[in-house]
This record gives sequence, structure tokens and C-alpha cells, in this order.
Amino acid sequence: MMYNLAIIGGGPAGYTAAAMASNAGMRTVIFEKEQLGGTCLNVGCIPTKTLLYSAKQYHNALAAGKYGVDVEAVKFNFQKMQQRKQKVVRKLVAGVKQRLQNENCQLVAAEAKLMFHNSDKVVIEAAGETFEAERLLICTGSVNFVPPIEGIHDNDAVWDSTAALAATELPASIVIVGGGVIGMEFATLFSELGSRVTVIEAMPRILPQLDTECVDILQDKYRKNGVNILTSTKVTRIDGNWVYFVAEGTEEQVIDADKILVSVGRRANLSGLDNLRVEMQRGAVRVNDMMQTSEKNIFAAGDVTGKIMLAHVASRQAEVAVGYMLKQIPLQRIAYNAIPSVVYTNPEIASVGLTESDLTGKDCVLPIEFVVKKLPMTFSGRFVAENEGETGLCKLIVDKSKKTILGVHAIGNPCSEFIAAASFAVRMGYTLPEFEQVVFPHPTVSEILRETALI
Ligand code: NAD
Repeated sequence: MMYNLAIIGGGPAGYTAAAMASNAGMRTVIFEKEQLGGTCLNVGCIPTKTLLYSAKQYHNALAAGKYGVDVEAVKFNFQKMQQRKQKVVRKLVAGVKQRLQNENCQLVAAEAKLMFHNSDKVVIEAAGETFEAERLLICTGSVNFVPPIEGIHDNDAVWDSTAALAATELPASIVIVGGGVIGMEFATLFSELGSRVTVIEAMPRILPQLDTECVDILQDKYRKNGVNILTSTKVTRIDGNWVYFVAEGTEEQVIDADKILVSVGRRANLSGLDNLRVEMQRGAVRVNDMMQTSEKNIFAAGDVTGKIMLAHVASRQAEVAVGYMLKQIPLQRIAYNAIPSVVYTNPEIASVGLTESDLTGKDCVLPIEFVVKKLPMTFSGRFVAENEGETGLCKLIVDKSKKTILGVHAIGNPCSEFIAAASFAVRMGYTLPEFEQVVFPHPTVSEILRETALI
């Protein structure tokens, strides 16, 4: 049988595309060699957030006295946390499977290998069978990047994020190499559960892509809470449980830890694609705005495109690709200028759009005159009620002449839950006077967005 669409990879990009295409009547086959849901559902977003929620519950119980609640003998059970994590993952993976079944999409639970492609068809082999399709959507995701550091391979002490998530015991101490999103989320998990945590970050600041003021607030808090954050520091080698490093302008030093988590980024996963003949860009599959590669019947979506490695970007890219195949009018495109992102530290950092660094100095991407409006989160009554001792920050980056909102950056719980309102404003190009007309429910922490716009 000739399929209309073959999809390799069942993560957020793959399963979103599969459900949409099947629903619209395309004969669709999707290949997944592990579990549906991909990195996000199985070894990424969902399991980390489940464990982080357990850690937060424990942390909150320890601090309950601040809220007039006496809790005695607070303990946690790491094995139970892990079991609950697995239960959550199983439930969500089953949900994805059900959704694809409901749409009559064919799932092949095996590794797919692209054998051949021309402008009329693609040929894929999986589970000893051959599949032909008019079009291919590549959704193979990404894999952990392993930096060339001596002693990193064949070392039981070294974890990647997948191994860290599968831990059966809590390490008494951990060195985290890379203070990016993965590194800081694991620093949060392990430090809240009582591990001794050291973060080694090569850049002058952890979370280098984010608003510097928000990051400084987080960094100060974590340091005060005992997390050892070493910036402008490079790991030189690893020997068993010993991590050797050099901080800018100093001699080599060494630290030991039960575990060493390496989280220095991810790379496009091109496995099974040896026969793919399309243009590449920095090790990833190059796509146009329609997620189409240099071959007109081959598309790609998600981390494999090397654009923004976020699950919500992947699923939106998949919608754009399938929308284009279906000739949907109006043509859809992704608004890359309005992609929200959240780092699930405690407190959370959430942002959308341009930062001050994007608009100034050597990282300038747009020469626009802008103003910054900012308020501590404590201007929200709900925030004060629920975040004893915290200050937080909300910042709006506004085009000086047009008054449009170009970016929003916040630190304070639960900013992950209201950043969507800010994304909407950035996406729709709202001006401050337009945004001010939006009524926010009171008392919610989201009101801080409007309060900041009004100053
Ligand atoms: P990242 O790019 O966010 O961070 C990697 C960090 O490692 C950077 O700060 C970099 O400066 C540092 N680094 C690089 N080489 C180093 C070295 N040799 N020594 C010390 N530091 C070094 O990558 P990540 O944290 O691995 O995450 C991978 C991807 O997954 C990212 O695209 C991220 O956005 C995504 N992700 C997102 C979320 C979320 O949205 N909450 C959660 C987890 C992962």
C-alpha cells in the first residue's frame, strides 16, 4: 500500500502530525522504536516535572511553618517518587497511543530505516517489512551531546539526563556539568532533596540565554541555599568520581562527587537516516518556513531541525508541516518571535520574546529603541499570599516608538502558568494601550503582567 505520509519518530512532533494527518484523511504510518511520546514524555519534560513536583512538596512541607502549619517528621521516599513518575509517564503514553488508534493511524513499533527517496516516493524498512509513502516527515528528535572530556566514557559515575531520571537512589553529592535548562532543573531536584550540588558552567552566567536579572535572582538564591555554582569554569577531565576543572584565571582544582551529570546540550538525532539526501545546517535537517527540506516531499519537525529544542515548538512545527501538505488556507507559519519557555527551577523562570541582550551590545539581533518596565512580583497580592519571603520580578521589553510588547521575562511561582498570556500579547503584536484593556482575574499572580504594563 502507498501511504500518503510516513512519519519517523513518535515524540510531540511525530504524534501531533500523525493525529492531525490521519484525522484529515491522509493514510498515515508512524514508526517508533521505543515508546510513543518521545523524549518529552518518557525521559524529558514529564518525568522531570513529576519528580520536581515531589521535591517541591517535600520542600514546602519543610517550610510549612512559615504559613502557620506545623508539620512534624517530614520525610520523603525516593523510590515512591520514582514509582509515581513511572505511573504518570505510563498514563500519558497510553493516552497518546489511544489518540492515534482513535484516528486510525498505523503505528509500527520498530526502528525505521530510510532506504530510498525520490520526488514521488519514500521507501522505509522496519520490522522486516517495506513501507512506501508519498511524503516523509522526519521527527527523530535529538540525543544528548557528549563533550570531548577525558574520562567521560565508560564511567559509572557519569550520568546523562536519562540516567539521572532513572536513579534508584539519591546521590549524596552530584556535580552537574552545564548550567543550562537541564542542569538547573536537576540542580533543583537534587538540592531540594538534600544532595550536595555543584554546578559547573562554562559561561559567565548559568542559563545564558535568559534575562540576566532573572538569572541573577535565581543564582543568588541557590547559592544562599548551598548550591555551589561555578561560572566561567571549564571541566578539564574526569577521573572516576573526581572532576577536574579550571575557573577563569585560576589553577586546576578538583572536586569529588557520587555522580556527575553531563548536560551540555543536545544534538539532532539522524539515526536511520543514512540514505537521506537533503541539505543540512549545523548538523541538523535544514527546513523552510513550511518545515519542508530541500526535497519537496520530505519534511522535518522538532529537535531534528536544530531550531528551538522545545516540545511545544516541535508540535507546532508538525502542525505547520501537515497544514502545508493539506494545502490549508491561510498558510500557517510559526511565530518564532513568540515562543514561550520555562525553566522549572524553584522559583520558576518564564519568558517569551526578546531580551535586553537581544537588543543591545554584541548579541544585538534588532537595532530597536526600547524601554524596560519592571516590577517585583510582590505587587501581586496573590504572590505575596503564597510566596513568603520571595520577591520575584516581572519585566516587559517594549518598543519605544510603537509601544508594542517585544518580550516578557519573569521569575517567581507560578510564572509558568501565566506566560501564555504574555505570549499572546507578543504574538499578536499588542501595544501597551491595547494590553491594558485586557481584564485579568483577581487575585491571580497573572495580574503582575498588567501592573507592569501600567507603570
Ligand atoms: P542548554 O543548551 O540549555 O545548556 C547547556 C549549558 O552547558 C550551557 O549553559 C552551556 O554554556 C554549558 N556548557 C556547554 N559546554 C560546557 C562545558 N564543557 N562545561 C561546562 N558548561 C558547558 O542544554 P541542556 O540544558 O542540555 O538542554 C538541552 C535542550 O533541551 C535545550 O534546548 C533545552 O531548551 C531543552 N530542555 C528544555 C526544558 C524546558 O523547557 N523546561 C527542559 C530540559 C531541556
